[in-house]
Amino acid sequence: MITVLKSNATDEQRNQLIKWFEEQGVKVHVSVGEFQTVLGLVGDTSEIDMDMLKLLDIVSDVKRISEPYKKSNRRFHPEDTIIKVPTKCEEEVEPGNVKDGFALCGGGNFAVIAGPCSVESEEQIVEVAKRVKAVGATMLRGGAFKPRTSPYAFQGMKADGLELLSIAKKETGLPIVSEIMNENHIDLFEDVDVIQVGARNMQNFELLKALGHTKKTILLKRGLANTLEELLMSAEYIMAGGNEDIILCERGIRTFEQHTRNTLDISAVPALHEMTHLPVIIDPSHSTGKASYVRPMALAAAACGADGVMIEVHNDPPRALSDGAQSLTPDQFDEVMSEIAKVREALK
Ligand code: PEP
Ligand code: MN
Repeated sequence: MITVLKSNATDEQRNQLIKWFEEQGVKVHVSVGEFQTVLGLVGDTSEIDMDMLKLLDIVSDVKRISEPYKKSNRRFHPEDTIIKVPTKCEEEVEPGNVKDGFALCGGGNFAVIAGPCSVESEEQIVEVAKRVKAVGATMLRGGAFKPRTSPYAFQGMKADGLELLSIAKKETGLPIVSEIMNENHIDLFEDVDVIQVGARNMQNFELLKALGHTKKTILLKRGLANTLEELLMSAEYIMAGGNEDIILCERGIRTFEQHTRNTLDISAVPALHEMTHLPVIIDPSHSTGKASYVRPMALAAAACGADGVMIEVHNDPPRALSDGAQSLTPDQFDEVMSEIAKVREALK
C-alpha cells in the first residue's frame, strides 16, 4: 500500500503517521520527493482502513498495490486448484471429467452439474438424475431450500428435499449439490457433497464464516450486483476459516438489459482465471432465464475455458415448480452435452 502525503505535511505529522503504521505491524519506506512524500507500506495491510486514511488532513492519496484477497490469489498460488468431489460413478464420462473415484473441477477438468431448479418428488429427482448421468453429468443439482423473490412462491421441500437428493445419489452414484441459506442448517447437509451459496447470499458473511469451518466443497455463486473482487473476498471468508475447496460460479449480473434474466459476464472466466487459482464455472440457466439461450451460452463457457457448467434440467419443464422457462428437457441436455464435448475436443 502506498500513502502519498500532501506537500504541507510537517515532519512531526509525518512521523506521527509513520509511528501509527508501525504500531499496526507494517514497515514504512519513506521517499521524499521535491513536491510530495510517499510512504510505502510493507507487510500485512489488510486491516488498514484506506478510507479512514484518506480523511486525514496530511494525506492526498492512498493506493493498494496488492490485492486484498490473499488465499484465493493466483499470485501466491500459481497452479490451478483442482477440486475433487467423491463420486460412485467410476467411468470416465464425456464431457465431464471423473477419475479415480472423484468428479473433478479445475486444471483442465470439466465439471457438469445438472438437475432441476427444485427437488419436487422422488420420481422427478431420480429420473432426472439417471437421465443427466447417462449423457455426461458428473454431479446432480437440486434445490431444497429455495431463495425466492416472493414469499408466496414455492420455497422448496427443505429437509425432505435433501433426503430425496440422497436417494437419487444412492440410485445413481452422482455426488449432490444443493443450496444452503442459513448456517443453522449445516447439519442437514451432511450427505450433500457440494454446498451451494446462492447469488443472494454471496455476502452473507456469517454463513460464509460457518462454511469455512466445514470440510465440504463450496459452490460460491457471484452476487447479482457484485464485482469479481467482491466475489473473491467472499471466497476469502470461507478460506480464512480453513476450507479451501471452493468452486466459483458466474451466473449473470444485473444490467439495464431486460431481455435476458441477467447478463452473463462471460469475460469473468478469463478475468477470474488470472486473478485466482480457484476453478470457475458458468451457469447458463440463471444467467439467461431462457431455455433456448442455454445451449449457446454453455458452448461459450466451454470455449472460453470455464472449468464447468451448471445447467437446470427438468423432466417436464412446463410443470416445474420453479424456473421451468430456463430448464432443458433431458433430450435437450443430451444435445448440449455432445456439443460441449466437441468444443472441448476442438480446443485440445
Ligand atoms: C440456483 O442455482 O438454484 C439459484 C437460486 O441460483 P442463483 O443463486 O444464481 O440465483
Ligand atoms: Mn433455479
